[in-house]
Amino acid sequence: MEKTKKIRLFALIASAMALIFECVYPTVFIKWIVPLYAVCVLCSAVIAYLLFFALFAAKDAKKPAVSALIGAAAYTAVMMGITPLVNNVIFGAVAPWGSVLVNTAVNLVFWLVMLKLIRKKTGERFVFLPLLCVLLVAVGVPVSVVTTAPNIKATGFIVSDTVENYEKRISAIDIYENTLETAVPQTQVYDIVMEHLRAPLPAGKTEKKVLVLGWDGCRADTMIMAGNRGAVDALLADGGKAQIAYCGGANYPAPITQETATMEGWTTMFTGCWAEKHGVSGFDDVVTSKERTFFVSAIEDGLIDSAAFDFSWDTHLRTYANDVEYSKQNGLNVAWNLAEGEEGGDADEGTYQNALQDIQRPDCSDLIFTIFEYCDYYGHTYGFWNDTPEYAEAFRLSNEKGVALIDAVKARPTYDTEDWLILISSDHGGYVRGHGGDKLQERMMFIVTNK
Ligand SMILES: [Zn+2]
Repeated sequence: MEKTKKIRLFALIASAMALIFECVYPTVFIKWIVPLYAVCVLCSAVIAYLLFFALFAAKDAKKPAVSALIGAAAYTAVMMGITPLVNNVIFGAVAPWGSVLVNTAVNLVFWLVMLKLIRKKTGERFVFLPLLCVLLVAVGVPVSVVTTAPNIKATGFIVSDTVENYEKRISAIDIYENTLETAVPQTQVYDIVMEHLRAPLPAGKTEKKVLVLGWDGCRADTMIMAGNRGAVDALLADGGKAQIAYCGGANYPAPITQETATMEGWTTMFTGCWAEKHGVSGFDDVVTSKERTFFVSAIEDGLIDSAAFDFSWDTHLRTYANDVEYSKQNGLNVAWNLAEGEEGGDADEGTYQNALQDIQRPDCSDLIFTIFEYCDYYGHTYGFWNDTPEYAEAFRLSNEKGVALIDAVKARPTYDTEDWLILISSDHGGYVRGHGGDKLQERMMFIVTNK
């Protein structure tokens, strides 16, 4: 191929790729879609290669392909260094939009300078080059900004979601019986359920029943949204109580000994002990066969006849694999109901329907434990913060489903002869778009009961 034609073609392909890259990359990085991120890094390396090649060829370099390869490798290495540096050091890993904007700015300068140099060196008037430059700036940058914009709200977190503000919000909530200083351990969920099942039946009651509404990733200070608090208020109106609780290990307020994370949190509630005993410290861990969840142990101890676990996140099946297997082998009546559906979509609707259908059966499960992902999903996507409309809506939806399930319990024909404990709790809190660490916002959760 004629040299000028080749340079022209390479510059054209690089410019087109740059345009597509700029439209796709912000969303990929912010939503952290790992396979697509890998494609983007590769794409950025190819763009750099094509531009360097065109430039070296225009300069009549001896081995343009080799020089371009070195140039592209160096550029990619620098960019791959800059992005995490900006993300982790400058923005404290909490504002990915910042890294996107820096990445966009650096790329733009690099691409435009390269295109200008190529034009200058060839002396050819490539009409498409200025056109693509204009397009890149006119389309790529606005797309970057628009796709990044919803996440710029994250700035608000860093500024306003301080420990001081969190403490203020907690003390402004009038439903909690205790304070941050007197928070109770997450293991209390287990204790309250077991105490209820072991306590003698009150006069006129013939059966013990439990319904737990688990709200994954719901912060303790969400309760400040009194208008969205239907299910919680329903339990309190029945003579219940609300307590501030903590996850992350026994030694509160000292630093955490287990992550303020999902598997650790729910397992602690199911077993009444912390990770050092139940053995779950991460995604791949399975509850040790020495520690049974109460789905199994309460049946074996003769406290209940049946239990149901309604959830939509399939990792639970792995974490509780020993009990799933054990209950099947020993013919224990435990339903492990994984709802199909997309997270943030119809998955929670599936969990709700599974629980509702169970409650509406005359002989419903004695212990029904549900986990709704609304708060966790919208927290990870938009931020764990009440001022985010999506997170506030997630809290409202959790309450709406909760009210419907509480109403279904009360509508049971045999309700008057049943002794129901209804409990609402959460596995961990959240900070900006994540959780797992030691921050107060991540560590505190709550326990609300109807008695
Ligand atoms: Zn969780």
